[in-house]
Amino acid sequence: MLICTNCGKKYPMEEHAQRCALCNEPLEVERQNGKMRGGIRVWDRFRDFYSYMPLDMRYSLGEGDTPLIFSENISRELGASVYFKNESINPTWSFKDRGTFVALNRALSLGFEKIGVVSTGNMAASVSAYGARVGLDTYVLLSSSISREKIAQIGAYGPKMLLVDGNYGELYFESLKLGKKLGIYFMNSDDPFRIEGYKSIAFEIGEVDYVIIPTSSGGLLRGIMKGFVEMKDSGIVDKLPIPVAAQAKGCSPICNAFKEGGKIKRVKNPRTIAHAIENPYSPSGNAALEVLRKNNGICVSVDDDEILKAQRRLAEEGIFVQPASAVSLAALKKLKDIHGKRIVLILTGSGLKTKNEYGDNISICKMENLDKCMEEML
Ligand SMILES: [Zn+2]
Repeated sequence: MLICTNCGKKYPMEEHAQRCALCNEPLEVERQNGKMRGGIRVWDRFRDFYSYMPLDMRYSLGEGDTPLIFSENISRELGASVYFKNESINPTWSFKDRGTFVALNRALSLGFEKIGVVSTGNMAASVSAYGARVGLDTYVLLSSSISREKIAQIGAYGPKMLLVDGNYGELYFESLKLGKKLGIYFMNSDDPFRIEGYKSIAFEIGEVDYVIIPTSSGGLLRGIMKGFVEMKDSGIVDKLPIPVAAQAKGCSPICNAFKEGGKIKRVKNPRTIAHAIENPYSPSGNAALEVLRKNNGICVSVDDDEILKAQRRLAEEGIFVQPASAVSLAALKKLKDIHGKRIVLILTGSGLKTKNEYGDNISICKMENLDKCMEEML
């Protein structure tokens, strides 16, 4: 059963429904229960939680099972236990692969031969890679402001690409309509089965006090918390973490609505260097707000300077992330009452996808002067 996150209307699993026909809010798969089983991959160990649909491992590119890395320095500084969930380790270097894998299984189980996605970059790369692996026609609608580095990665997988000049938020809704007409399964940011994929992040974390999540569409936050709730319902963990949604100040529709109360409103002039989370009208905004409100959650927005500083700080820890991932560390610095707490930061994607500065620890040297150059560096 698929259930509307807002009005509770139910839809049978066999129906290709993504949003509610009555209220246009996102749907989600009804809660699953189960046990942790044996197995190597997260998809094996938590297969009970996907019992509504077999996950065909031939379509897998090895997504998930990413490392949790303890940060000694930041933990000492804050008097807490801080871990990084490094999602840049995934096959196309972002967490999106988990959602794409499950949504692709869904598309194939419904008999689709064409898949598509609306993306600022990361999700387009992910869907293109999986589409190529399975041999499906893949259609990618991109924002015209996308960076050249990202187009290069997406193009390598050979999808059909359209750069769309216009409102990225509206493109999401337009694509769902077009998909129905043209027989394309658009597996956008908060597709119910993409959310199911993101549950697996919670399964790999277990029991913690806080989880800090870079938040754009709201899909990742919904997915991670659904995973925690299903684990608690099943007795695998005793308590839920406090969810912390981290947004960029220049585009924070969820934090705005969280503060003001009420529903999500479109941000007029979104502007942040964290392009991967620059969504002016989060399609899962209202559902994400509900998750935050129900779970004692927190919403923190951070400015571009704080994001860049956090990105450099993470590099000092040996992890190079995109600015959109660094919002989690920037948000951590603003939390209160975290002494002695266990905190996981979701690092959503790799820094290699965005334009970067080299820093100033670089100089040029002639081979015959190498001795001298090295001495100067010491
Ligand atoms: Zn509804």
